[in-house]
Amino acid sequence: MTKAIYGGPVFEMARQQFKRVADHLEILEMERDRLLYPKRAIAVSCPIHRDDGRTEVFQGYRVQHHLTLGPTKGGTRFSQVDIGEVAALAIWMSWKCALAGLPYGGAKGGITVDPYALSPRQLEALSRRYMQEMIPFVGPHTDVMAPDMGTNEQVMAWFMDTYSMYQGQTINEIVTGKPISAGGTLGRREATGRGVSYLVARALDHLGISAGSATAIIQGFGNVGSVTAYSLAEKGVKIIGVSDHTAAYYDPTGLNIADLQRHMAKRGQLAGFSTQSFAEPSELLVQKCDVLVPAAVERVITGENASQLKCRILAEGANGPTTPEADSVLQQRRDEIFVLPDILCNARGVIVSYFEWVQDLQRLFWEETEVFDRLYRILERSFQQTIACAKRDRISHRMAAMAIGVSVVQSAKRTRGLFPWCSKRATLIEPECHRLAIAAVSQIRENRQAQPERINV
Ligand code: NAD
Repeated sequence: MTKAIYGGPVFEMARQQFKRVADHLEILEMERDRLLYPKRAIAVSCPIHRDDGRTEVFQGYRVQHHLTLGPTKGGTRFSQVDIGEVAALAIWMSWKCALAGLPYGGAKGGITVDPYALSPRQLEALSRRYMQEMIPFVGPHTDVMAPDMGTNEQVMAWFMDTYSMYQGQTINEIVTGKPISAGGTLGRREATGRGVSYLVARALDHLGISAGSATAIIQGFGNVGSVTAYSLAEKGVKIIGVSDHTAAYYDPTGLNIADLQRHMAKRGQLAGFSTQSFAEPSELLVQKCDVLVPAAVERVITGENASQLKCRILAEGANGPTTPEADSVLQQRRDEIFVLPDILCNARGVIVSYFEWVQDLQRLFWEETEVFDRLYRILERSFQQTIACAKRDRISHRMAAMAIGVSVVQSAKRTRGLFPWCSKRATLIEPECHRLAIAAVSQIRENRQAQPERINV
């Protein structure tokens, strides 16, 4: 059975989260596997020449969760991934896109590799070979890639170029997160981190804390973490702790952001930044602060450390940083800690990616103000809907965000029916959250009407 190929702790996390939401939504058992398990999973071997002349084969994956709302959409990760992790990330992308009202299913891809151990030539070779292997499975109307951990704009440009070379024409819309010169959109590079910072500001406001008096600790200092830190600092938040895979620094009086920026521009990693404010990486997460932003890897907020967190806001820049065991603890601490769940908190990246795809399809590029106007309307709506649903149904923010996302997908699957034949339609119990799902589906319709090109489902 296909679902037997998925396993591991990250997939188990996605499965448990889905079960909790499905129980809350009273989704019938017979519908659950169809909603949870991915439509397709592809595994490929990617051989490249190493710089010393050896040939080495890397394992690559792509998982497409569902194609009910449109093409699938999701990042490509170069790290020590396995198929279960990629599948979990694809599933989370589905709920994230549905919550934001985007006409996509979720996807994710990855290569099991340490990207920091590759020379630039090897990185290009591996990126191109991976895309070449993926050509039969992806397309602008089937599955659209984007950057994620260990990949960046340059990798997206190589993906786009490789795909285009094989098609004999330039097809920008095959990936998003590209440089502007390769068909990228204004506002994408910093989108995810700036979105995290925007929602943190909304949460601070909600709690009556002024940004100027707030402190923040950020784990992970790549695309998402560093932009979040710089953007929060612009809003007046004092950054007192940062970490990446090379080092962790903590200074309760505030780290010097200008120095951090200069150091990162020169070295590309935190190691060597300071000799005075070294910190134990695992200790960083449990230091007192107003805003804690995990922006690196999964499963760092656990059943063990959740009770020790001393933050007011947990803003999940990373995907899947909080385990279901930690969620149970955080639910008990809901009056102390305001959680911005990943599928809401880091959604700005995929929203701007959606705008990039629409612009590429139309060959009509927007002013930055247009990108931001549309973006904030979607982010604000998702924020308000999540808070309202959580309050009304007395559930956690994560449960509320996921309930809206899952309901949108469930509703679309129900409306489309089951190909090729259905003898009897299932009758579903519709909780209050479903009303919000319908509103989100209407938004998808509006978004579609804004596009001249038909979406091929
Ligand atoms: P990145 O590769 O640019 O940065 C990852 C950062 O995490 C690096 O600074 C790395 O040193 C650090 N890191 C790795 N292991 C660590 C550890 N054990 N402890 C502390 N730091 C560690 O990746 P990114 O694009 O910033 O993605 C980070 C997270 O955000 C991922 O979960 C990703 O899925 C999620 N995300 C990214 C985007 C995007 O647009 N790039 C969008 C949504 C979500």
